[in-house]
Amino acid sequence: MKAKEILKGMTPYKPGKQIEEVKKEYGLDKIVKLASNENPFGFSPQVKKQLPQLIEQLEKYPDGYASALRKKMASFLEVDQAQLIFGNGSDEIVQIICRTFLEAGANTVMATPTFPQYKHNALIEGAEVREVPLEDGRHDLPSMLEQIDERTRVLWLCTPNNPTGVHLSTSEIKQVLENCPSHVLVVMDEAYYEYMEAEDAFDSLSSLNQYENLIVLRTFSKAYGLAGLRIGYGVAPKEIISTLEPAREPFNTSTIAQAAALLALDDQEFINETTTENSINKRKLMQFLDEQGLDYYPSEANFVLVRLPVSGDEMFEHLLSKGFIVRSGEALGLPNSIRLTIGKEEDMAVIQSEIKERLIGISK
Ligand SMILES: *Cc1c(COP(=O)(O)O)cnc(C)c1O
Repeated sequence: MKAKEILKGMTPYKPGKQIEEVKKEYGLDKIVKLASNENPFGFSPQVKKQLPQLIEQLEKYPDGYASALRKKMASFLEVDQAQLIFGNGSDEIVQIICRTFLEAGANTVMATPTFPQYKHNALIEGAEVREVPLEDGRHDLPSMLEQIDERTRVLWLCTPNNPTGVHLSTSEIKQVLENCPSHVLVVMDEAYYEYMEAEDAFDSLSSLNQYENLIVLRTFSKAYGLAGLRIGYGVAPKEIISTLEPAREPFNTSTIAQAAALLALDDQEFINETTTENSINKRKLMQFLDEQGLDYYPSEANFVLVRLPVSGDEMFEHLLSKGFIVRSGEALGLPNSIRLTIGKEEDMAVIQSEIKERLIGISK
């Protein structure tokens, strides 16, 4: 047998520690997972209430066009139905984009570190990956534009960027869109869109009429709290969507995921309440970090990348033994840091005191 050469050097996604596993290992009864930027308040109670009714008709294939969700989403976003594509998480849209646009001989430009699936999928398609290091947690946009040539097919912008939480301003994005050649697809990954508060945040959807090479990715996995159901979407000019559609599997989003997403969209109160709570708890964390003299990146998402005077792995182990799962910066390409998802107020108070305890005695 002969697999693609590139796969030999690649490793499968390594999932974070599972809650049950940690409970057993450390003899703890409560574990708080602040590692994957999930919503600590769960998902809409409206979805939960109606979920039992969604379990009908599972013997039938889903609606491959997600018609009901598409209709609802189009009116919610004020775009045309033909401007939408749904995926098994926005991860799958990333994969569909790579399948559609990338191949041997082509290249793609992205920041590093950023969301790892862009690179992963681009490599599988045989494309050359051009990575431009972040500067102080931010995309270095002028250097990214310099990397573009006639063989570039896709430019990835992650805003706010995972794992730093730093967003791109309207003027920065406009500069990119105006200077990026039109043969390059610009992918704007807005997985944390609902959390953004910055006044200079870009209104991506209203720019879709202006730029024919822009696609915006969003998801129900983060603020909507439906990561376990796997559903995300892309919004673009309809020519881009019809280019992508043949590379999409016919039944890629499940009946339950489509129905739950539709109900979740209707409950904007849940989004408002939980994003407000996130904002309050994030501010408290930043205040704590300031008091401790710890550096962090200004985050527009539901996580904060904290710089430490110790290795991220060491802090990770310490917090794990206290019942908190976080993400070590070493695993993310940012040594001596951890990425912390903003949790509930009471859990944040405990983790802050655990961080403080670990750092006592380390000279700054
Ligand atoms: C979590 C995340 C996604 C993937 O979300 P799914 O919809 O669950 O696949 C995409 N992009 C970024 C930047 C993320 O952090």
